[in-house]
Amino acid sequence: MSEQIHSIRETDQKYVANTYNRFPVQIERGSGSVVFDENGKRYIDLGSGIGVTAFGVADTQWQEAVIRQVGQVQHMSNLYYTRPCAELARMLCERTGMKKVFFCNSGAEANECAIKVARKYQAEKKGPDCYTIVTLNNSFHGRTLTTLAATGQDHYHELFQPLTPGFRSVDPGEVENLPEPEKIAGILIECIQGEGGVVPLAAETIAKIAAYCKRNEILLMVDEVQTGNGRTGKLYSYMHFGLEPDIVSTAKGLGGGLPLGATLLGERVQHTLGYGDHGSTFGGNPVSCAGAISVLSRIDEDLLGEVREKGAWLKEYFGKVPGVEDVTGMGLMVGIKTQKPAAEIVREAIEKGVLCLTAKDKVRLLPALNIPWDVLKEAAEILKSCIEA
Ligand code: PLP
Repeated sequence: MSEQIHSIRETDQKYVANTYNRFPVQIERGSGSVVFDENGKRYIDLGSGIGVTAFGVADTQWQEAVIRQVGQVQHMSNLYYTRPCAELARMLCERTGMKKVFFCNSGAEANECAIKVARKYQAEKKGPDCYTIVTLNNSFHGRTLTTLAATGQDHYHELFQPLTPGFRSVDPGEVENLPEPEKIAGILIECIQGEGGVVPLAAETIAKIAAYCKRNEILLMVDEVQTGNGRTGKLYSYMHFGLEPDIVSTAKGLGGGLPLGATLLGERVQHTLGYGDHGSTFGGNPVSCAGAISVLSRIDEDLLGEVREKGAWLKEYFGKVPGVEDVTGMGLMVGIKTQKPAAEIVREAIEKGVLCLTAKDKVRLLPALNIPWDVLKEAAEILKSCIEA
């Protein structure tokens, strides 16, 4: 080697594309909600890989499911049937009342599929002019050119023009009066905007959006990539609001740490996709699906009750901390608006052994769904000391 590479950090900085502004921490291993860096320093993980490791790091049941499947067959093309893919689709449909599932590898792809389904369904039903997808200002739906177009935050768009046409972002309150509903194929919402700063939509606004969709035969699409799979204390966040969406996209926590996205198709759109209309080489990968079955089968009423309880405790706890202006979110998706800059708090928390996230100007917590009470309380106390200081 002509050049001496001294550390993983230097290697990463030299060879990995500069898209992530990493903290100076290298995670080596962990168990549940506790991880360790290369020097053996312990951290409590309140970020769970941005809502991915639903049952923490290297959780035993997930590991066993994945390893068992790796020993049987790690991949098969979608030309053949595999058990985990079919089983997971059945479980998702039975738990939601949706009718069919398209599997892919990420949240952005799950939204891409949702958008394709909405466009095809309405082109056939209402004609070729009915293609507009309405999304909400401050939303986040992914980073492909189409899901960037769906994302209602201009700063993500600036460098990548032209984006896919046919998208329009509006304020939530504007939806009920949108003109030309005959040209709108679907409305895509997050019940709680995650990347937008853990901003919940008001229940009345959600009800009005759903009513507008129903009145005008527009498809109601819910992005459950961040809010899904138990995160908010229900299996999917739309279940808090009595919605019956036509399309639900999800990813992140579903795979528990392996890449997996899913687009759930309701009654009206269940037959929209036909042979060759859509596909993904890795979609429904047996290892990812085996891990997801282990995750989904453990998100039961007991666990969801605990998620709600821990979320309520976090809200009450941080609501009383001096320096906190507001606490938002549901279940274990919590945003804390602080007087001190959120980024400063996150940096200080790392030094003191807690990993957490930011979302816009808030400190964001997305701990594992099964984080033990004592670990949660220990982390909350440390975070409190960073917020107060
Ligand atoms: N939709 C929402 C609501 C998200 O929060 C994210 C990612 O943060 C995405 C879509 C994109 O998911 P992915 O990064 O897996 O493509």
